[in-house]
Amino acid sequence: MNIKKRIDELRTLLNKYNYEYHTLDNPTVSDQEFDALLHELIKLEDNYPEFKSNDSPTVRVGNVVLDKFEKVSHDVPMMSLSNAFNEDDLRAFDEKITKAVGNVTYNVELKIDGLAGSLKYENGSLVLGVSRGNGVIGENITTNIRTIKSIPLMINYPHNLEVRGEIFMSKKSFEKVNKLRQNEGLEGFKNPRNAASGSIRQLDSSVASSRGLDMFIYSVISPEEHEITKHIDALNFAKKLGFKINPLSVKCNNIDDVLTFINEYSEKRNNLKYDIDGIVVKVNDISLYPKIGYTAKSPKWAIAYKFPAEEVITKINSITFQVGRTGQITPVANLDPVIVQGSTVSRATLHNEDYILERDIRENDYVIIKKAGDIIPEVVRVVIDRRQENTKTFKMLSSCPVCNETITRKESEADYYCTNPHCDAKKIEGLIHFASRKAMNIEGLGERIVEQFYNDKLIKTIDDIYLLRDYRMDLVVKEGFGQKSVNKLLDNIDASKNNNLDKLLFGLGIRHVGEKVSRVLADNLKDLDNFDSLSKEQLVSIDEIGEVIAQSVIDYFNNKDNQQLLFNLKLLGLNTKYRSNVKEKQEFTGKTFVLTGKLELYKRDEAKAIIESLGGKVSGSVSKKTAYVIAGTDAGSKLTKANSLGVKVLTEEEFKELLDR
Ligand code: NAD
Repeated sequence: MNIKKRIDELRTLLNKYNYEYHTLDNPTVSDQEFDALLHELIKLEDNYPEFKSNDSPTVRVGNVVLDKFEKVSHDVPMMSLSNAFNEDDLRAFDEKITKAVGNVTYNVELKIDGLAGSLKYENGSLVLGVSRGNGVIGENITTNIRTIKSIPLMINYPHNLEVRGEIFMSKKSFEKVNKLRQNEGLEGFKNPRNAASGSIRQLDSSVASSRGLDMFIYSVISPEEHEITKHIDALNFAKKLGFKINPLSVKCNNIDDVLTFINEYSEKRNNLKYDIDGIVVKVNDISLYPKIGYTAKSPKWAIAYKFPAEEVITKINSITFQVGRTGQITPVANLDPVIVQGSTVSRATLHNEDYILERDIRENDYVIIKKAGDIIPEVVRVVIDRRQENTKTFKMLSSCPVCNETITRKESEADYYCTNPHCDAKKIEGLIHFASRKAMNIEGLGERIVEQFYNDKLIKTIDDIYLLRDYRMDLVVKEGFGQKSVNKLLDNIDASKNNNLDKLLFGLGIRHVGEKVSRVLADNLKDLDNFDSLSKEQLVSIDEIGEVIAQSVIDYFNNKDNQQLLFNLKLLGLNTKYRSNVKEKQEFTGKTFVLTGKLELYKRDEAKAIIESLGGKVSGSVSKKTAYVIAGTDAGSKLTKANSLGVKVLTEEEFKELLDR
């Protein structure tokens, strides 16, 4: 890659995005995308200082100042903040400060997602309101500032004073404004920040006045002139004068306390009445600021921690296809690995042909990916600006990538299926599914092992799993296996024979029969034998079973191969009866549990299933209504909250005791 070319490319893109965001109030990319590109540029400029430039977006604050407002020079520049994206960045920030000035205390504040404004008072009267602009010159927005109700027009302080803070729009006002715009046939604002920025820079102040803007003050300029030596005192000083100060800021004695605060608000942020995009950490002792210093763009005594990217940018290196146990063929994007919400992602689903064509996703494209439902990574859209020449439109396969047989797509469905009942991929996936945790839960028989045993012709169908004991010696001599692990695996296989009927039903992989439907079927029919002579009417009469599921169940049990398989499984000693296991327990019925920290004895899903099977509920957040918090190692803010609310906290061992009681 030509470094200079990439640097130029990044600068052009970032300048464009800056303009759209700061000047037009109409961003075309997410903040995370912008931050990722800026970060890439910062790194390149650090590694190749010969390409540094005073014009670079890495050293410039904001964007061009609009001509429609009078321009005003800032007496003290309105700087930006450097960013931290993870714990390491914050610890590095702390280390640098400690090295420069010794131990310090910090003040942490919510990073309100609005736009910076500066207010000047003379003899107690508000005389000027200015936007940040490019940091050196801003726009005179006094008339609009005056319409914000929380900004005092007069203060009881007969000296010159300049305070700065964030002008923002609450989530509620944002919804109201957008609804009105919708009624008028206008395009809605993308988010509260753009709405606030667009409103404060209106020439007609009655517009700004109608938009419900607000402002939190977060700094006092030239504090020494007001005999202020600590940032926290500056906030209290402003508060006493009648300014609105965000009440959620706290003093932290060290960086660990800062991290605890960040964890807490990473969870709470969605419950706030306004958007925040991070947490600002500031050294408390103002007298240390000159010694700690400044970069061209931001102070070194403060940093903005940005919440983890929910959407990130990466490149699709290739598009390949996966064949599922039903023969469904799913296109998958193989990516340059990136971290999304804390875990590395190198593959993401592309769902189906239509999904790809609608978004025109191609190999070698840069794309935005996110975790759907916070779990499965998916490609959201293409970053068209970064498309390279000679990329080709996606073309769906015409045959199965594993067995080469024809694939078909039903008219009403989006997916292609391999039509070959003997396709190896289908069989392997079916076996993996059977042994998986939520089905028969055979520990030691994971994806890799199933594939290996299948290729070695040790297991071809599900019943072969229960014949593996006959091949014990063949297994023991296999690479990576030994007496001990083989014995363990065979014991686990034997133990699975005792599983309840719903697990077996789910494991069979009957189309449309998921975990829940399996439970409903098992609970209603009680015995696998009762499935033999079932009619569709009988099935449909069961609550929660519709036509499609019923037909699929009938088809499965009418199939000769399946009948043989079930006969064999029974012969091999698998339990085929349903044991109603809802032995509801007093301690669990109707009670809410919260799981937190790293659990060692139980997997999370497992603990959840146990609680639910005993009549309890599992919630993601702690409240007064929580009955128990089960805390594993490294439990964080949920544990703190439980303690502060007096909610009973159990260790895993205590939870186990409760179960055994
Ligand atoms: P910044 O948002 O990273 O941080 C500085 C700003 O934080 C300050 O100017 C102030 O307005 C604000 N702030 C909020 N609460 C604060 C507090 N308690 N104390 C101090 N400051 C506080 O930097 P920036 O230069 O304003 O903007 C750059 C950011 O804007 C980028 O990181 C990106 O997320 C976003 N951006 C997005 C696009 C896009 O196209 N999506 C384009 C340009 C910029």
